[in-house]
Amino acid sequence: MKLSETQQMLLPRLPGVDRMLETAKADPFFRDIPLSVVTRSARTVIESLRADIIDNRAGITEAELSDASVIEKIRESAADAMFLNLFRVINATGVVVHTNLGRSLLADEAVANLQNVAGRYSNLEFDIGTGKRGSRYRAVEDILCEITGAQAAMVVNNNAAAVLLCLDTLARGKEVVVSRGELVEIGGSFRIPDVMARTGAILKEVGTTNRTHMKDYAQAIHEATGLLLKVHTSNYRVEGFTASVPLGELVALGKSQGVTVMEDLGSGTLMDFSRYGMQYEPTVQESVASGADVITFSGDKLLGGPQAGIILGTKAILDAVKQNPLTRALRIDKLTLAALESTLRLYRDPEKAKDAIPTLRMLTLPLTVIRRRADRLYEMLAGIGDLRLNLTQHDASSRAGGGSLPLLDIPTVCVGMQVVGMSTRAVESFLRHHTLPVIGRIEADVFLMDVRTVQEDELALIQTAVATLLLKGIGP
Ligand SMILES: *Cc1c(COP(=O)(O)O)cnc(C)c1O
Repeated sequence: MKLSETQQMLLPRLPGVDRMLETAKADPFFRDIPLSVVTRSARTVIESLRADIIDNRAGITEAELSDASVIEKIRESAADAMFLNLFRVINATGVVVHTNLGRSLLADEAVANLQNVAGRYSNLEFDIGTGKRGSRYRAVEDILCEITGAQAAMVVNNNAAAVLLCLDTLARGKEVVVSRGELVEIGGSFRIPDVMARTGAILKEVGTTNRTHMKDYAQAIHEATGLLLKVHTSNYRVEGFTASVPLGELVALGKSQGVTVMEDLGSGTLMDFSRYGMQYEPTVQESVASGADVITFSGDKLLGGPQAGIILGTKAILDAVKQNPLTRALRIDKLTLAALESTLRLYRDPEKAKDAIPTLRMLTLPLTVIRRRADRLYEMLAGIGDLRLNLTQHDASSRAGGGSLPLLDIPTVCVGMQVVGMSTRAVESFLRHHTLPVIGRIEADVFLMDVRTVQEDELALIQTAVATLLLKGIGP
């Protein structure tokens, strides 16, 4: 490649890493920044300028290669590197179990227990009674059986792991009968057929997309059958001319034919949402009562706990699952256990659980409370007293998210915002990049904040972010 005259002129002007590090040494800005960070930033900035020159990107001037200009870029890069990569955000999307924003928030009780166990030793695998080695799963086994009615229980890293582990234990090299209407793909490329292929189980599809009958399952059973699997269609519904076989009937078929029946419940709620005027969602307790041999579900979807995959079932099956060598690879850590145990204990009193577990509280928040919160946010933003701010209120719908209750529109109130002299996209982007990012959405060119998922103590933080936007985002 032949360099142009300009390129040949610019390249030698590029300062070297060593010289920039010398300059940085004398600069008080870098005093508290580790040398490894400064060195890396210097290298990155200089390399990127070199690439800009070589790729002939327009706009590179000699002035940009001055020491002062380069050191400024190194400052920005180093400051950036000092921020954590995983940080808190304000969820103003109204999607409660927001997969991209961390799914469920933990209850205060769970956070407190987490803190307690995290920085100190614990009896994780120590039996206080005998002074010998104990089982880490014991912490949640009893409480899971108590609140669900299951015979035995255990927990792994997430529900995907739970499904994988159960299929591997129960159906490796055997056929698994699944309705065509239930071959689910969950976001993040978890597909039932693919997971099954991984475990060496053989998928035996029965029925059609919209209708599957008892006789479809019955006809599919032969000596190679390892499992009848029912998958909860978490994130979609087949509507119209449909038929599926209820879990109870599938269990009866399994019992009569001596075939194990498993259900992947997905979200797995322990609370009956229909009691709060919401769409009915089958509960874990109902699945257990139906007599399924094994049931799996997530810890951080509608349950509202930490990421985990919960497995309930007969003692014989759970014993076999625990002995599978895969279990060790999929095991949960003590922080998850601590948070999960505390969350599950809250379910001993369902009314208390509804208010103490953030996911349940946000989903069942009365519209009157939401309206009041939206009014407060509106007033706080109006209180900034900036005439460029156009505020509105909108009736809208929140979503459960996390592939749960997909058809449920939960009535909510959003605060809408437009800023004179600034595009709505720029408003959204500024708030998203704020020190404490505020994540909302744009609809009909208005920036909308759904207050259902905004915590009461975050309203003032949104006010600060918007005040900063008005100060810095646009000129006076
Ligand atoms: C969400 C979901 C999974 C995966 O659960 P994770 O906890 O995200 O691993 C599996 N099956 C169904 C039906 C689901 O809804």
